[in-house]
Amino acid sequence: MVGYTAIHCWIKRMYGYPKKCEFCGTTKKRRYDWANKSGKYKRDLKDWLRLCVPCHKKYDLKRLKKHGKLQIFKGGKGTRMSLTSI
Ligand SMILES: [Zn+2]
Repeated sequence: MVGYTAIHCWIKRMYGYPKKCEFCGTTKKRRYDWANKSGKYKRDLKDWLRLCVPCHKKYDLKRLKKHGKLQIFKGGKGTRMSLTSI
């Protein structure tokens, strides 16, 4: 995970803390995250999305699914998910 924290510091330094979610459009949340689109953490604003925390979670889940890093187990006790962090 080298570079991950550094790039997050970079985007915050360049563009500050987001105040609006680009998915659901809310401006009422207390916290927003920068979500990376490509997973490559480019130093390019086009590679980033401002998301509220719930949307960020959904977004990451979707992206992980697409890349086959999310495993879903269906068993007697319901659905269990296993996420492999990238
Ligand atoms: Zn949102």
